[in-house]
Amino acid sequence: MTTKRDYYEILGVNRNSSLDEIKSAYRKLAMKYHPDRNPGNKEAEEKFKELAEAYEVLSDPQKRSQYDRFGHEGVRSTGFYGFGDINDIFSRFSDIFGFGGSIFDDFFGTGSSSRRRRESGIQGSDLKLTVKLTLEEIAEGVEKTLKVKRLKTCPTCNGTGAKSPSSYITCSYCNGTGEVRQVSRSIFGQFININVCNHCNGEGKIIKDKCSECDGTGRIKSESTIKVNIPAGVVEGNYIPLRGQGNAGVRGGPAGDLLIFIEELEHEYFKREGDDIIYDLRLSFPEAVMGAEVVVPTLKGKAKLKIEPGTESGYIYKMRDKGIKHLNGYGRGDQLVKINIHIPKKITSKEKELLNELYKSENFNPEVKRKSDKKFF
Ligand SMILES: [Zn+2]
Ligand SMILES: [Zn+2]
Repeated sequence: MTTKRDYYEILGVNRNSSLDEIKSAYRKLAMKYHPDRNPGNKEAEEKFKELAEAYEVLSDPQKRSQYDRFGHEGVRSTGFYGFGDINDIFSRFSDIFGFGGSIFDDFFGTGSSSRRRRESGIQGSDLKLTVKLTLEEIAEGVEKTLKVKRLKTCPTCNGTGAKSPSSYITCSYCNGTGEVRQVSRSIFGQFININVCNHCNGEGKIIKDKCSECDGTGRIKSESTIKVNIPAGVVEGNYIPLRGQGNAGVRGGPAGDLLIFIEELEHEYFKREGDDIIYDLRLSFPEAVMGAEVVVPTLKGKAKLKIEPGTESGYIYKMRDKGIKHLNGYGRGDQLVKINIHIPKKITSKEKELLNELYKSENFNPEVKRKSDKKFF
């Protein structure tokens, strides 16, 4: 495999560029290397794909931040591996290329867009699913089995919506052309607007006998289970796009995507800070003074922690590599154990006696140290 170029370099933008700047840079370059302008030119096609990949990443805040932090490796962990097919690029960026992807639609209004539309059908919609993960699952990565309710292509009519191939009649509104022409006159001259016939959705024909299973829609409801590999180190709001796993397309159109959104469940003991986890440990006053060996929870069960004599409140013990694996796959965070010293609200007279004894000892009295500091007193 060849090494990938820097996405910012590919688009000729700098790392602080705004989304608008990135979009305009992409549009300009994509038009230059567009396959319609460079028919049969393999090199231009590769360039076109490379540009689309760079744009896909830099135009998506989530992917962009992964890329900024971890490079190409970070982008792979979002589930994006680049585009396989030029048509993927057109359907992905229809806002830039127009429906069907031909730049000539914009320039000449030839109606090729409706022709393409008839050939390619309508893309199915994207679906969103949320998966709730525990910190333990996030720490190591996890395979989740999810139930997905989605529309799939009707197997009876193969997505056409028709009972049989002879179930069609020609659309009378457009006489089977799929297009409606409108002539308008203005002071600038005569214009011909060509629109997709909305009576037949540009297909030129209408189904007379509908498929009974899908009632002519070409899609039926389905419920299936899928397995998703969730990498370690994801954070709330991250999502994993599963291309083509959304709703089926209409009449041969491509399927939409399934987006798996990550939600982080609150943990009984830990707070997350990046890839570190924080644990608040309460120590008794004698433990803090004399030292102790205590048992603390970790993401992988209980572990012993040695408390040094003279540990102060607020001190943080670092348990190395007991945190969450980094998203890029190298190394992991730590468990930070923050010391809190337990102060009882009520004490017995016996305890009070003991404390008074301690109080008399200069060693237990911070006043002694403070008073020796002439700057303040
Ligand atoms: Zn059907
Ligand atoms: Zn029509």
